[in-house]
Amino acid sequence: MDAIQMVDLKRQYLKIKAEIDQGILEVLDTTAYINGPKVKAFQEGLQHYLRAQHVIPCANGTDALQIAMMALDLQPGDEVIVPAFTYVATAEVIALLRLKPVMVDVDYDTFNLTADIVAAAITPRTKAIVPVNLFGQSCDLEPIMALAQERGLWVIEDNAQAIGADYTFSDGSTAKTGTIAHIGCTSFYPSKNLGAYGDGGAISTNRADLAQRMQMIANHGQGRRYYHDAVGVNSRLDSIQAVVLGVKLQHLDEYAAARRAAADFYDRAFAGLDWVQTPVRHPRSTHVFHQYTLLVKNGQRDALQAHLQQKGVPSMIYYPVPLYAQDAFRSFTEVEHLPITEQLCQEVISLPMHTELDQEQLHYIAETVKSC
Ligand SMILES: *Cc1c(COP(=O)(O)O)cnc(C)c1O
Repeated sequence: MDAIQMVDLKRQYLKIKAEIDQGILEVLDTTAYINGPKVKAFQEGLQHYLRAQHVIPCANGTDALQIAMMALDLQPGDEVIVPAFTYVATAEVIALLRLKPVMVDVDYDTFNLTADIVAAAITPRTKAIVPVNLFGQSCDLEPIMALAQERGLWVIEDNAQAIGADYTFSDGSTAKTGTIAHIGCTSFYPSKNLGAYGDGGAISTNRADLAQRMQMIANHGQGRRYYHDAVGVNSRLDSIQAVVLGVKLQHLDEYAAARRAAADFYDRAFAGLDWVQTPVRHPRSTHVFHQYTLLVKNGQRDALQAHLQQKGVPSMIYYPVPLYAQDAFRSFTEVEHLPITEQLCQEVISLPMHTELDQEQLHYIAETVKSC
C-alpha cells in the first residue's frame, strides 16, 4: 500500500501531466505570464461552469474576500457577521479593513451559519454577512438571502471550500455555490478542490456594477491605464496557474465524485460506531467533501489522532481554536464564548480526503479508526 497522505497532489498530477506540461510550456514560449490568453480562457471557462455573469480571477482567496469587501463601500466600524468556526482569512480581511467582525456560532451538524443565527446578531450597524460553505457543502442560503434582502444587507459567500457544489432552492431550481449571494469568493490554493500549483483565487457575481468595481479594485483601482479612480490592490492570477486550473476545471465534477465515493466508504465504515458522528449532508446542498470531518463524541479525539498517527494515518484538526479566542482578534471582538464552536473545536477530526484514495487505503484508514 502506498503511504497515505492527507492530500495526494502527485498522483493527481501524473494523470493530467501531458496536458499541464504542454500548457505551461506554451506560456513559457509566449512569455504572456500575466493577463495572457490563458487567464482569459480560464476566466470564461469558470464563468460558464458556475453559470455566473462575471468572474474576476485574482491572486488568492483571501484577496478575493478583501476585494469583495472593498467594493461594498463599508465604513470603519460597520459590522460584518461571520462564523467563529472558519479559517482565519474570512475574519482577517474584515479586521484589516477596520470593519467589525461580529463572530457568531454555527449549526452543530453542518458546521455552517443558519438564518436564525444570523438574525439574532443583526444590529443597526450590521452591513454585511459572510456565510462560509465549510468543508464542501453550502450553507442554507435561501433563507439567509431572504433575511439580507429584508434588512438591506450585503452577503458575500466564502466558497473557498465548496467550489462545484450545487444548492437547491425551494422552487426546485439549482445554482452553483459561489453564485447565490451578491458576491462569491473562492481559493485555488493547491489543496482546495480546484487547486492550482501555487496561489490563486476568484470572485464571482451576477451584478455588473459590482463586477466592474471589483475588477478595478483588483487592478490598482485603475479604470483605464494609469488613471486611478479608487485605492485598490494588486491581485492577479498568473498564466501558469490559469493553465493548471483550466485543465483541472475539466475534471472538477469527476474529482467531486471521487471525493464523494471516499466519503460514502467512510460513512458506511463508521455507521455502527456510537462514539463518532459522520458528516451530516444538508438536503439542500450537494457535498463536495473538501474535508471529511468526524465528530468524536467520547472526549477521545486527541487520543484517536495519536492512534492514527502511530499507524501511519494522517489527520488534521480543522479548526482547533475559535477565532474570537485567537490573540489576533482580541481587540476586534467582545465575544468570549460560543458553545457550539467550542464543542466543535474539541470534537472535530478530518481524515485523509482527496481524489486519489484507493480501496486499500480507505479500508486501512477505516479499520484503524475502528480499532481505536
Ligand atoms: C483557503 C480559504 C481561504 C483563503 O484562501 P487563500 O487562497 O489561502 O488566501 C478563505 N476562506 C476559507 C474558508 C478557506 O478555506
